[in-house]
Parts: sequence; structure tokens; C-alpha cells
Amino acid sequence: MQHLTHFYINGSWQAPHGSERMEVVDPATEAPCVSVPRATREDIDSAVHAARQALPTWAATPASQRHDLLMAAAKEMQRRYGELRDAHVLTMGCPVDTAGALHVDGPIEGMQYYAERAGRMEEVEQKGSVSLVREPIGVCALINPWNYPLHQLIGKLAPALAAGCTVVAKPAEQTPLQDFIMAEIFEEVGLPAGVFNLVTGVGSEIGPVMAGHSDIDMISFTGSTRAGVQVAEHAAPTVKRVCQELGGKSPLVITEGADLEAAVRLGVENVMANTGQTCDAFTRMLVPRALQQDAAALAGQIAREQVLGDPKRTDTTMGPLVSERQKSIVRHFIQRGLEEGATLVEGGVDGPDHLSHGYYVRPTIFTDVTNDMEIAQEEIFGPVLCILGYGSLDEAIEIANDTVYGLSSAVYARNVDEALPIARRLKAGQCYLQDAEFSFDAPFGGYKHSGNGREWGEEGLLEYVEVKSIVGT
Ligand code: NAD
Repeated sequence: MQHLTHFYINGSWQAPHGSERMEVVDPATEAPCVSVPRATREDIDSAVHAARQALPTWAATPASQRHDLLMAAAKEMQRRYGELRDAHVLTMGCPVDTAGALHVDGPIEGMQYYAERAGRMEEVEQKGSVSLVREPIGVCALINPWNYPLHQLIGKLAPALAAGCTVVAKPAEQTPLQDFIMAEIFEEVGLPAGVFNLVTGVGSEIGPVMAGHSDIDMISFTGSTRAGVQVAEHAAPTVKRVCQELGGKSPLVITEGADLEAAVRLGVENVMANTGQTCDAFTRMLVPRALQQDAAALAGQIAREQVLGDPKRTDTTMGPLVSERQKSIVRHFIQRGLEEGATLVEGGVDGPDHLSHGYYVRPTIFTDVTNDMEIAQEEIFGPVLCILGYGSLDEAIEIANDTVYGLSSAVYARNVDEALPIARRLKAGQCYLQDAEFSFDAPFGGYKHSGNGREWGEEGLLEYVEVKSIVGT
């Protein structure tokens, strides 16, 4: 068991004000594996104070210097790749064979991506006699979930630092390790004191303190819609910027002429990745009614290819869910699906027979799902795919958009030309055509209850920027 005892505040490791601690549980063994301090209001005040003190100098640092520091951090992340990967294996139960590709490669690239864009802060846009200049928004609080802990951290941190902001980061209770490694990395590369500060604590206790803090200029929150709303409520009196990256229930529309096997494979593998704990997973598969039975049979077959087991084994493709709580939520939804009359093709409520410990749920496929069912509307956040049939393309689009969420979407048609007009009609922040892959140039964020922010791309940098108009130049 690893005991982490100090916060990283003002460029040094500082003892917490209180004595309470929190335990992290290894979801594969159900045994405690890490313990961290539980922050109090005083700890938040110390971290915010350090960030505020560091802001003027960091904001005025030449962009080339910020570029160099971010690039040095990316290099150090590469050097400590194994540790970053293993943090995800231990605390999330992500299989060791996929954890690097899923959780570490992207963040290193993301760090480099924004290092390259630090120079954008020094560009002046001239519109007639108006000069538009960019300034960092200030002190930022970064609150993250457990499902892509490093990815989410870097998606906020890299643009914030590139823009010249200082930060206070708070990882999820279940997954603190990668944040501690990043603090060590920043210490190693010589990031000025107070630019990056790290605290750990219970979200419902210190989240409202951060959201309501008068010395924090912006809060970037990724997590559930429920907590995201609370953050906005607590932030309102201070009129700070609130960037929300929230839940999803994303559709994959498969058309009549599509290569059904390829499309279903893409959909099933997308949902099962990260044991279904992916905010933008395509958890509603929309298929022409005439093809629904074939699609369901294929989906069942593909789901059976998953090897559920110990995340430390290299032949495991699917690990446990992150926590006991998450396991019971997912099982509850599977039970609801059965009660609502959906047809179970694969998986189910019972855990796998061969695993006596760990928060495992079998890959589960439902078909004959209708969009009024709870399993079609609620974010399950586990390895559960719902297949829904449609008659016309208009009906498919209506079903796809009939959700409070709008994070992502996908269309698998005969080809890109056929997919594109469908994509234009979907109400979501992203739409993937055919087998397109994640790109850092594609801003990521939601419509509707999926949030109001954008991460990655140029827009991801702009979240941390105030635009000043200088008139009369
Ligand atoms: P959560 O909302 O319970 O927790 C997320 C973070 O918020 C944690 O750090 C937690 O400590 C903190 N928190 C909890 N209550 C808070 C409060 N009242 N004020 C401030 N902070 C608080 O969510 P979760 O269960 O950890 O994560 C899963 C959710 O995150 C899913 O809904 C998923 O879709 C969403 N998510 C969204 C994106 C995206 O980019 N849109 C990415 C990943 C995850």
C-alpha cells in the first residue's frame, strides 16, 4: 500500500492542515492500494493563494519559455511512461496491454499539442482600428473524473499552462496517482512555484469551496451532469467562467447500405473499451429494423471475444469497473433493461463465474430497446450496449436526437458522402464518420446537458483566454 502524505503547493510538498485521509481501492482485488490526504478549506486556500501569487509572473513569461517547459514535461512523461500506465492499471483496473495506448499516449501528445500553441497567445488580430489581444483568464480550478484521469487532466492543464494561467488540480477520489506523478514531473522540469498545485479530497466537500472561491477565475469541471450543475450553482455568485464537460448517451447510426459487420464491430468495441466507462461511448446503436436481428447476433458474437480478468495479465481485454458503487449502478441498469422488456443478447446481471473478486460486469448487449426505456435514456457508464431499430432515416435521426445529452455521435453508412448529411442533422458536439479516429484537432464537448465547454483543438486553448479589444490602434 502506497501512502501519499503531502500536497504539492507553491512548488513544494506541503503537509495538509487536517489529519483525515482517504483510501483508494484496487478494483480488481477490492483491497486498499493507495492512501492520500483529505483536503480541507484551509488547504484549498493555501493552493489558491499560491496560484494567485504565481499568476502575474507566469502570465508574463514569454510563450517560448512556456513552450519549452511543456515540451520538457512531455519528455518526462515519456520517460515515466510505465509508471503512468501502471497507475491506471492499479486504480482503474485498466488492462495493462491497452492502458498505455488508451491513457498515456494521448496525454503526451496533448501536452506537446498545446506547447506548440503557446505562441498563439502573443498573436494580435487586427480588424480595422481594433486590435484583439489574448490574455490568460487567471487562476483555474481543474476538477476531474476517474475514467480517463490523465487524459482529462492534460486536456485542461496543457492549454491552461500554455495560455499563461496557474492552476489548482483536484483528481477524482478513485484515481489520484497520475496527478502526483505529474506534480513530480513539474518539479523535475522546473515549472515555477505556484503554477501547478495539487490537492486531493472529497468532491462534495471541497468542490463547492473551489467553485465558490473568490480568488479562482475559472473552473473547468469534467464529471457527472449532477455535479456539474452544482459546480455552476456554487460558482454563480462569483461570476467566474464555468466550463462543463458532462455525461453522454451517444448514438451510432448504421445505415442500410453500410458494411454491417464492420459497423457493429466498431460499435461494440467502442462501448466495451475502458469497460464501458467512456463519456462519449456510442452506447445506442441505431440499425434499420430489417437488419436488427443480424446486428444483434453479430454484436453478441463480438462481445464474447472480450477476455474479462485480472488487468495485470497481458491477455485480459476487459478489466473490472472502477468501484463497488459503479458495479451496483451498472447491474441495476441491466436489471431495469430486463424489467423494461428489452431482449438480452449477451451478458446480464450476474458477474463472471471465474472471478471471485473484483468489480466485474460482463459485456452486455440488449436489443429491442425503445428510446423511452431508462436504459436508452440514462448514462449507464458500464459495458452495456443498447440496439434500437428504426424505419426511415428521419426516424433514426429523431431517435438519435431524442436525449438530454449531446456529447458525441457516429454514422456508419456506405461511405463518407452518404454519412455526412446525416452527421449534419445530429445534435452533438462531435460526429465520427465511418471508422474515423480521435483527433486533437477536433474540439471535444457537448450540446445540451453534456456541457458547455470545448477541450482540445484551438477552442480548447480559448477556454482559458480572455479576449481584450483595444480600439483605436
Ligand atoms: P462525478 O461528477 O461524481 O465526479 C467527477 C469529479 O467531480 C470528481 O473529482 C469528484 O470528486 C468531483 N465532484 C463530485 N461532486 C462535486 C461537487 N458537488 N462539486 C464539485 N466537484 C464535485 O463523476 P464521476 O462519476 O467521477 O465521472 C463520471 C461522469 O463523468 C460521467 O457522467 C461521464 O460521462 C462524465 N465524463 C465526461 C467527460 C466529458 O468530457 N464530457 C469525460 C469523462 C467523464
